[in-house]
Amino acid sequence: MPTTDVSAPRQTVSQALKKYREMRDFAITSEPKGSARPKRHNPPIFVVQEHHASHLHYDFRLEMDGVLKSWAVPKGLSSEPGVRRLAIHTEDHPLEYALFEGRIPEGEYGGGVMSIWDSGTYEHLENSSYEEGRLRIRLAGEKLAGEWALARTSPDAKQWMLTRRRDTRG
Ligand code: MN
Repeated sequence: MPTTDVSAPRQTVSQALKKYREMRDFAITSEPKGSARPKRHNPPIFVVQEHHASHLHYDFRLEMDGVLKSWAVPKGLSSEPGVRRLAIHTEDHPLEYALFEGRIPEGEYGGGVMSIWDSGTYEHLENSSYEEGRLRIRLAGEKLAGEWALARTSPDAKQWMLTRRRDTRG
């Protein structure tokens, strides 16, 4: 039986984006500020952005509860089953960020060029939960297709492991 943490109150989109907005000056960066009631997608979307900041990394984002849950993946996602990649949880981003490409000015948070590496939709697989830090998903993108698992390394850690799974679909 799937278990879900029902004790945690759902945040509004604006509450979820508070940290994202505090970290940025929208008079300087062209990144989206995000709306309070963004257009949600069904099925939900994912995006992987290639981010040439101080260190090249890939930002993996999943639409959930009206925002993009986000992880910085230094080595990017592997399509080879069993390969694990470190994924560092970062602040929730607005849904509008899934379309963002461009240069974040130097000196601003994340300064450097951001481009979309892949995007598409995803399916949240059963018996898995973001809140519990054990999430399983099936991606349907241009480059990425199939199952991945995202596992938090400890209850309050920002570090997760992102692992390509053999597709269990029959
Ligand atoms: Mn980044």
